[in-house]
Amino acid sequence: MATSTTAKLQNMRDKLSVKPHREILQSYLHQNKDLLLREAVLVTLYRKWSARPLYGLVEIGIATYDRLRVNCGAPCPPGPHAEDLLRQIWSIHLRIRSHAHLPVADASSDAFHFGTSVFVSHEEAQDLLHQVFHQLIDETRPDQGYRPIICLTFGNNDGLAKVRHADFNFMPMNINTTIAVLDAQNIAIQARITSKVDAPIEYILPIFMIKPLHVGNAGNAATYITIIAFLSILRDQIYGAETNPRAKPGQKGISASKPADSVMQWLMERPTPAPPFGVTTYCCRCSSLVHMAEECPNTDLVCSKCMDSMANWRQENATTHRDGMCVFR
Ligand SMILES: [Zn+2]
Ligand SMILES: [Zn+2]
Repeated sequence: MATSTTAKLQNMRDKLSVKPHREILQSYLHQNKDLLLREAVLVTLYRKWSARPLYGLVEIGIATYDRLRVNCGAPCPPGPHAEDLLRQIWSIHLRIRSHAHLPVADASSDAFHFGTSVFVSHEEAQDLLHQVFHQLIDETRPDQGYRPIICLTFGNNDGLAKVRHADFNFMPMNINTTIAVLDAQNIAIQARITSKVDAPIEYILPIFMIKPLHVGNAGNAATYITIIAFLSILRDQIYGAETNPRAKPGQKGISASKPADSVMQWLMERPTPAPPFGVTTYCCRCSSLVHMAEECPNTDLVCSKCMDSMANWRQENATTHRDGMCVFR
């Protein structure tokens, strides 16, 4: 990357580091003064690990939003429940092939509603994240450097990532294009949507009259986190009215024309581009690429290592994968 661009991004990162998260996202969505901020891409990241040691990374949800694609970057009315901005969110759901058979806290890996789920290797996941965090300002002129990235996370999900980074070495703040890492849980508090510290996604969405579906799926989580951040930031514009001076969320103001759930339904039904690689069909029991685990004809497969393990949960999980696919040594 050109040194001048690196310096510019570092400068921007220093400037933003002292600002409240809400203000940074508000400037990104709205203001027109700072050209570098306008060029930024918002990337929401949510990771999910297996429920038991070795806490393997099982899923990654990624949602991206590119302000320049909305009205050429000029601020525009967000529409009811911000639908005109939310329609630009691109969500993908990665499932790590080698860890897909590990038990998770809730079984929602198959229930991604906002795009395409793909099974990938660790390397492919790393590669995709690298691409997402390195987007050229001008495809025809690589010397111009990369676009700034604003990374959005939720609560302690990023903190867990730090603890468990040995399994998957990706830290958004260590990428030199990242100008800020924002926390949507914090943004909801700063926007006075809730005063509850550590409010989970399932608690915050109903405040906006949105019924959450399969939040345990990392892809859905990444999308919902982006939605929470946008609706919090835009509350005055999308809910404010003479009869609703405090901009209480709901079917009010410019959002009076339709229920929030109808916008969610539309977001789930619209076609979205699939991720550039990975496979959509994969069996974590026998590693076939032509059927899914629930259609696996090899019902007698058992991992002998897990079967012989002292841990109950491993014995119970032994039929989910064959010998040779076990992540335990
Ligand atoms: Zn199979
Ligand atoms: Zn095993």
